Amino acid sequence: MNQTTLSTALTSRPQERSLSKGETSPSPYLDNRVIKSHRGNKRTRSQTARARLQTKEHLTALAGAIHEPELADKLRRCHSRLSVLTCGRHIAQIIPNFTCEFRLCPDCSRRRSRKLQNKYLPAMRAFLRHHHVTPVHLVLTQTHKKETRKQSAKRIKDAFTKLQRRAFWKEYFKGGTWSLEFTKDKNGLHHTHLHIVGFRRKFFDIELLRSEWLAVTGDSHVLNLKPILDIAAGLREVVKYVSKPLDIRRFGADDLREFLKIKKMKMFGTFGEFRKFCKSFVPSDNDGDEVSELESSSRDLTEGCACPKCNEPLFDLRLSSDELLRFYEGLEITPPPKQKANRTN
Ligand SMILES: [Zn+2]
Ligand SMILES: [Zn+2]
Repeated sequence: MNQTTLSTALTSRPQERSLSKGETSPSPYLDNRVIKSHRGNKRTRSQTARARLQTKEHLTALAGAIHEPELADKLRRCHSRLSVLTCGRHIAQIIPNFTCEFRLCPDCSRRRSRKLQNKYLPAMRAFLRHHHVTPVHLVLTQTHKKETRKQSAKRIKDAFTKLQRRAFWKEYFKGGTWSLEFTKDKNGLHHTHLHIVGFRRKFFDIELLRSEWLAVTGDSHVLNLKPILDIAAGLREVVKYVSKPLDIRRFGADDLREFLKIKKMKMFGTFGEFRKFCKSFVPSDNDGDEVSELESSSRDLTEGCACPKCNEPLFDLRLSSDELLRFYEGLEITPPPKQKANRTN
């Protein structure tokens, strides 16, 4: 669909409501300016969508370069055609034609991240209600060595297993989740960080934890610990590393080759009593609300249903990923009335 037919699809809807005073007509496709998000420095949807498209093009080219035509083809097809359920001002649901499920694919990573949040946030909230614990974000690091990404990941995971067996850890932590973050230093050495949402039983001196970490790693005492004030944000922060394991746009052919060797490695998990809790956890009605709040964009909606944000009827648009990007830009130039009111008040 080109720009004209896309804006026609929007403006020609019979259900289109009249514009309220001060609103501009939805013909934003002539103007490429992007209004800065009112949420501060956060990137707009079109900016993140553009970044995803560029990342994907880069990955596809790399896959071609290392003679992985099947991967390149999957990446090219993934999210290339989309069924977008919209009222013209909000997007209620996006269904892709095909998902490649490749771990580095930015579109599939987002879906995976959302799934993890939907699964674990209700359990975390319930766990916090049932136990007298404080959630903390703990980052464990390792020394940089000349080793493969796989070896580096194994080294930190093994150290964490040892740490969990120690009396100190058992006394102060009642479980949590872990995830891996892969980085590379300026000398090209891989190193892995372990991000933990830990449920701390009671306060302890950070120096004690440092010496425990040094005891199990043999050479690293570097870590960071901060309390989590909002568990949803805390989980999102940690899940982010699972969904974006690396700065993929700086990825070279060797990086991709090496990543393919660890593509089946587990990058997220639960531990301790939280792990046991998750196994038997069934969301209550209360927890269910939290789930649906997160899943609001993937609820079973169909054409003609009311938009969850404004109650206007939804219609189905078939877009390519480029067209979706322009659609986002259009929405940002003509933001929904509520956002306008916020700005002027
Ligand atoms: Zn994908
Ligand atoms: Zn709407």
